[in-house]
Amino acid sequence: MKGKMKALVKKYNKPGLWLEEVPIPEVGINDVLIKVHKTSICGTDVHIWNWDSWAKKTIPIPMTIGHEFVGTVAATGINVLGLEIGDIVSGEGHIVCGRCRNCLAGRRHLCKSPKGVGVNRSGAFAEYLCIPVSNIWLADPNIPMDILSVFDPFGNATHTALSYKVLGEDVLITGAGPIGLMATAIVKHAGARFIVTTDMNPYRLDLARKMGATLALNIKAKSIAHVQKELGMKEGFDVGLEMSGSGEALKEMIANMCHGGKIALLGIPTKELAIDWNTVIFNMLTIKGIYGREMFESWYLMQSMIQTGLNITPVITHKFHFKEFEKAFEVMLSGNSGKVIMNWIDE
Ligand code: NAD
Ligand code: ZN
Repeated sequence: MKGKMKALVKKYNKPGLWLEEVPIPEVGINDVLIKVHKTSICGTDVHIWNWDSWAKKTIPIPMTIGHEFVGTVAATGINVLGLEIGDIVSGEGHIVCGRCRNCLAGRRHLCKSPKGVGVNRSGAFAEYLCIPVSNIWLADPNIPMDILSVFDPFGNATHTALSYKVLGEDVLITGAGPIGLMATAIVKHAGARFIVTTDMNPYRLDLARKMGATLALNIKAKSIAHVQKELGMKEGFDVGLEMSGSGEALKEMIANMCHGGKIALLGIPTKELAIDWNTVIFNMLTIKGIYGREMFESWYLMQSMIQTGLNITPVITHKFHFKEFEKAFEVMLSGNSGKVIMNWIDE
């Protein structure tokens, strides 16, 4: 398809984004061109907006950013089979090399050199997005478009929250950002007993209650140890999901796990941090890092959970037209939001 489209571009070496006219991407033989319907804003996009040190060294300019999206198939390359024009699709934002040991073994989420849509290559905050067919998720059309637009971070939450068995277990989630909030709903759906979700932002703690937390803990008010007593817990949390990136949160988590407890780390610390390794060793804790989603097992599980009644709707708190992108980013920057969605088609 030839022509121009609107896109949110990181154009200049300074904070902000610019709404520009850029060429519609060319469709390679293995590619799918997607007419973007909705996108949602990720913390990563906020880093790019703010133009912090990570963004400066990572993002080439000018480039269209964004990686959380849903849309419909607009065109396909000649090698693409099994997709029809108009099919509703989302997609995996990590484009794997296909040649490393893990890729060849089918463990694509462990690729040694994945490239990020909207980070290392042109992204989804645009009227059209082009990605390889191997990254396409053909969606269940019964799932609302708003929900499909957050499948990428929902997949981060799913990958982390279902890393360990949670049925009947007590789960501690540190950080009630969008991903911690979705993880709260997932472990509830998966049958956890007590779910304690922590933050210091009252707006987000309110959302944590709506997402199914047994207790949404303001860490400024009480300690996690205190809450364990209140709930009648005796031996510590069985599963810990670190979703804030805060070193303090991780230290508190380690101190509140049961012997043999299991921790999954999704939150990205902004600096090196020290933890009490003696507790890890003597309490025989397991700690696992999480990056992205399992391709496409996390996607499969997300879909099945929605089909079996998981409701993540409360996490979507704001919706804007893409032309109001400045307002959308302002809401994200305020911290008083869950997921913020931008519409790319007139409804
Ligand atoms: P977010 O920044 O919106 O949420 C983090 C929340 O943690 C905020 O609400 C903040 O108030 C809270 N917080 C800060 N310090 C805390 C503390 N000591 N105790 C409890 N809560 C605290 O982020 P998000 O979009 O929900 O993402 C969660 C984390 O996961 C971020 O660190 C993000 O960078 C990271 N992330 C990782 C991956 C990955 O693949 N590993 C993917 C996406 C996001
Ligand atoms: Zn690879």
